Amino acid sequence: MGKITGFKEYKRKEFDYAPVSERIKHYNEFITPLDKKEITNQAARCMDCGVPFCHSNYGCPVANIIPRFNDLIYRGKWEAAFRTLMSTNNFPEFTGRICPAPCEGACVLGINDDPVNIKSIEYTIIEKAYKKGWMKPLIPKNRTGKKVAIVGSGPAGLSAAAQLNKAGHSITVYERDKRIGGLLRYGIPNFKLEKKRVIQRRVEIMKQEGIEFFTEAHIGVDIPVKKLQEKHDVVILCGGASLPRDLPIPNRDANNIHFAMEFLSQSNSRVEGESFAKADEILATDKHVVVIGGGDTGSDCVGNSIRQGAKSIMQIELMPKAPLERDDSMPWPLYPRIFKMSSSQQEGCEMDFNVLSKSFIKDENGNVSGINCVKIKWGAKGFDEIEGSDFVLKADLVLLAMGFLGPEQTGMIEELKLETDQRSNIKTTGFATSQKGIFAAGDMRRGQSLVVWAINEGRECAREVDAYLTGGFSVLNSKDGSLYKKI
Ligand SMILES: Cc1cc2nc3c(=O)[nH]c(=O)nc-3n(C[C@H](O)[C@H](O)[C@H](O)COP(=O)(O)OP(=O)(O)OC[C@H]3O[C@@H](n4cnc5c(N)ncnc54)[C@H](O)[C@@H]3O)c2cc1C
Ligand code: SF4
Repeated sequence: MGKITGFKEYKRKEFDYAPVSERIKHYNEFITPLDKKEITNQAARCMDCGVPFCHSNYGCPVANIIPRFNDLIYRGKWEAAFRTLMSTNNFPEFTGRICPAPCEGACVLGINDDPVNIKSIEYTIIEKAYKKGWMKPLIPKNRTGKKVAIVGSGPAGLSAAAQLNKAGHSITVYERDKRIGGLLRYGIPNFKLEKKRVIQRRVEIMKQEGIEFFTEAHIGVDIPVKKLQEKHDVVILCGGASLPRDLPIPNRDANNIHFAMEFLSQSNSRVEGESFAKADEILATDKHVVVIGGGDTGSDCVGNSIRQGAKSIMQIELMPKAPLERDDSMPWPLYPRIFKMSSSQQEGCEMDFNVLSKSFIKDENGNVSGINCVKIKWGAKGFDEIEGSDFVLKADLVLLAMGFLGPEQTGMIEELKLETDQRSNIKTTGFATSQKGIFAAGDMRRGQSLVVWAINEGRECAREVDAYLTGGFSVLNSKDGSLYKKI
């Protein structure tokens, strides 16, 4: 432990955000990281707990060795901190930017003070490593001759690819989209995670490590999974859970009502230089936008709508507003589901809770022009409408951000006749599906979740696939990338 009294001396400090008036003019990230002295103070707040809950099942899903890298930073040993971080997390540059940080929710210091600022520390370590040139491709010295196909290039597919490649297997990633990254690339906005600077930087390293990527390869639709099986010893399905929840109320067929992901993926693609035919364009410019769904996906729609120049933005949610502080339903060390305005919501949107959308209003041209809503009251058996509380929301673009139902059932699942669970996710024993040699990981297996969980799924699945291929676990020499023993 670096400084015994650190947690008493220093207050938690966050990264600064650029002022709203400036940041809404562009789609780039807008944080100002803490300087070296300040981040060292933040690391010094760590108490090196006897039982570090940050690192436990309640905390970090990839079990980052948080007290160790905090201590190393306090002592100025940044390269060692980087190696510690990379030993458990393949992509700290993603989680350091967009993880909701369950580790901080479980931090012991959080019981009676602000938790350690673990996410910012993670961000600082990995960005320093790139700057200093410590982040180098780890090219395996030996190849096992085993071939693995990974379908889907989201965080689950990428972490499985990185791990199995380190173990010496030959990896090919097949992606149906034009660019690599899954929801990191097409869902999460550029202003939270820059695509070219951050995602492509990592993809280039993975290519140098020997991983092959094929884009615009829609497996189970344009290319049967059977074809991959002929060429590979194992196929891992990491296709995500992209089936959106719909809102089948009257006039749902009006124009300009879209699923959030249709809007977000266009917006992200536009930032990367793609353009769309006028008839296909979904733009918030000069529109009254209503986002239905109060979660993070909805909030991403808000941030993009603001940058596109929406006239007004309203975000509505069926559920009540979450409490502002932990209550008895979420005691420490559980993740605190408290209300916190996202940076996008702070940029300028109205929000309303306990709102039920009853029907869309369609104008004479078939376009949506509003939503008939009513306020509701929640009770033990669900909700009741509040009499006389009906109101109309003006809307000429409606974005449905009400969550996801599970993976697409057509294509790969259908072709392979895979068993699914009650929530329609691929059913597995460990990570093995009901078909021999076919594994599944990420949202496709556990349902819509978090990037850090997807990374964990990819890593754990890779361990199992490695054992399946070799009859033991490969251990990598992290200094030179050689594979030096099997246990
Ligand atoms: C809008 C939005 C914002 C989010 N923001 C955050 C956040 O801030 N922080 C966070 O932790 N989590 C966030 N999440 C959740 C997180 O992005 C997901 O949990 C995570 O990306 C899941 O990873 P995955 O690899 O399992 O799947 P995905 O990232 O969904 O990747 C699946 C990939 O498989 C490809 N694919 C699917 N089927 C096929 C096929 N048949 N052939 C070839 N390729 C195929 C898809 O094109 C896609 O690229 C967000 C989710 C959404 C929708
Ligand atoms: S729980 Fe918090 S204070 Fe304790 S070791 Fe982890 S980061 Fe440090």
